Amino acid sequence: AKPIVAIVGRPNVGKSTLFNIFANSRISIVEDTPGVTRDRLYATAEWLDHEFMMVDTGGIEIMNADAIAVSIRQQAQIAIKEADVILFVCDARAGITTEDADVARLLRQSKKPIVLAVNKADSPKQEMNTFEFYNLGIGDPIAVSASNHLGLGDLLDAVVAKF
Ligand code: GDP
Ligand code: MG
Repeated sequence: AKPIVAIVGRPNVGKSTLFNIFANSRISIVEDTPGVTRDRLYATAEWLDHEFMMVDTGGIEIMNADAIAVSIRQQAQIAIKEADVILFVCDARAGITTEDADVARLLRQSKKPIVLAVNKADSPKQEMNTFEFYNLGIGDPIAVSASNHLGLGDLLDAVVAKF
């Protein structure tokens, strides 16, 4: 079976945007409103000699802040259960939020291989903001910009290295 890579993180960090870039078929939905997304979506992806399945986690409902926190945690739990590698996405412009720290704690406890992507590092200045993400305690943050297609090769290298 192909390895499963689950993309987790709080709403609006760019999970679906990354998923759509990596997916062989464009089936995930990007929304501008935080908390609005469709249910888990799967796609095949490939990088170098590796083929894998990708899961875009996310709730189906428009949620209030409390429900979002619960949902992010549930999605992380599903990812921990199903995935071979977890791609945890954060936002360089927002910095570390309490939700990020929450998810990081769950992921650390899971002992699953984790790759930490810090998205929206659109400029060199925003790339500098990614260093604080070392504080999450889950390894080297990889600065990416899904919008500008920066750092995506390095990110996929890190993912397939965990297979
Ligand atoms: P999700 O909720 O985590 O799935 O996030 P989405 O993929 O739906 O993206 C949320 C918003 O962030 C959308 O408006 C995207 O266009 C925007 N976005 C995604 N990646 C980037 C990026 O690298 N840079 C910037 N500036 N915006 C981005
Ligand atoms: Mg989404």
